[in-house]
Amino acid sequence: MKITEHIAQADKTLLSFEILPPVKGKGISQIYETLDPLMEFKPAFINVTYHRAEQIFKRRNDGSFDRVEIRKRPGTVGICAALMNRYHIDAVPHLICGGFAKEETENALIDLSYLGVDNVLALRGDAPSNEKFFTPHPEGHRYSVELVNQIVQMNKGKYLEEDLIDAGKTDFCIGVAGYPEKHFEAANPKLDLQYLQQKIEQGADYITTQMFFDNNKYKQFVANCRATGLQVPIIPGLKPVTGKRQLSILPSVFHVDIPQELADELLRCKTEKDCELVGTEWLIAQCRDLIAQKVPVLHFYTLGKPHVIYQVVKALL
Ligand SMILES: Cc1cc2nc3c(=O)[nH]c(=O)nc-3n(C[C@H](O)[C@H](O)[C@H](O)COP(=O)(O)OP(=O)(O)OC[C@H]3O[C@@H](n4cnc5c(N)ncnc54)[C@H](O)[C@@H]3O)c2cc1C
Repeated sequence: MKITEHIAQADKTLLSFEILPPVKGKGISQIYETLDPLMEFKPAFINVTYHRAEQIFKRRNDGSFDRVEIRKRPGTVGICAALMNRYHIDAVPHLICGGFAKEETENALIDLSYLGVDNVLALRGDAPSNEKFFTPHPEGHRYSVELVNQIVQMNKGKYLEEDLIDAGKTDFCIGVAGYPEKHFEAANPKLDLQYLQQKIEQGADYITTQMFFDNNKYKQFVANCRATGLQVPIIPGLKPVTGKRQLSILPSVFHVDIPQELADELLRCKTEKDCELVGTEWLIAQCRDLIAQKVPVLHFYTLGKPHVIYQVVKALL
């Protein structure tokens, strides 16, 4: 079922979880260990992220350098199939522009359509960790709006090769990313919003936001979107802060602010356990407020802390 249908049919705020594929060589059991307990809460769907391989340059004996992949998280499509089979739930794969030729994207979308996947989250992806700026694949997309367009075209039965025989229409519901605190590369919030608007005008059906720790940022973002005429659902992305180290990691990796009050509380903590408790309580309060505002879905980034997400959701029921 499409995310937009889940939302339209719901009479209360829905839940969803996001997981990362394990690194190459690891089994899928880690994903089941994360999700099995959370399934008690009957999430509406589960997102599966996609990550570019991490590469380094390795020096050869002759002095030249080889580009080698040191960490890979393959399997987004396969994991989606496994989750749909195990939990009978909608899985939402993330698709990124970075590293993909349009042809590869088209083939991935055909596979997803065969599997009965109804939703995809269309993203640009970031630059590899050893590069400063995002560089598109020579035969790929520069911005996610172009990826959205490719999916929309396939939904109309238009493939890259116009003479393709027996080209059926896909029927994907398309999500895109939104940034309550602005995407870090955008010149200013207004321009960022204009580009978000383009993605929706191109055919995206809903927005999932970057994490935020101050609900006022989400509220203002929704108000700004509505003021520009965007009517699609805006799903808040949520993550617990669970340690003092995250006070610097989260802002530097995700370009988000941590409110002073939360930072003060964490800095007063004596143990990791105390920090986790502070982060859990903070997220519970955020969720209660968002539910009161009738947000469509609470979307949790599990990112290695499923037990905290479990405590948060348990407290909400
Ligand atoms: C909910 C969510 C899930 C994510 N999941 C993943 C994942 O699974 N894998 C992963 O690698 N990353 C993921 N990311 C991170 C994301 O890939 C990065 O934030 C990336 O830097 C931007 O992606 P985007 O789709 O927002 O890009 P875009 O929409 O392409 O925007 C990128 C930048 O370009 C600007 N821009 C957009 N369109 C145009 C245009 N036409 N002309 C000029 N400028 C433009 C925007 O303002 C923005 O600054 C996720 C982010 C979110 C919020």
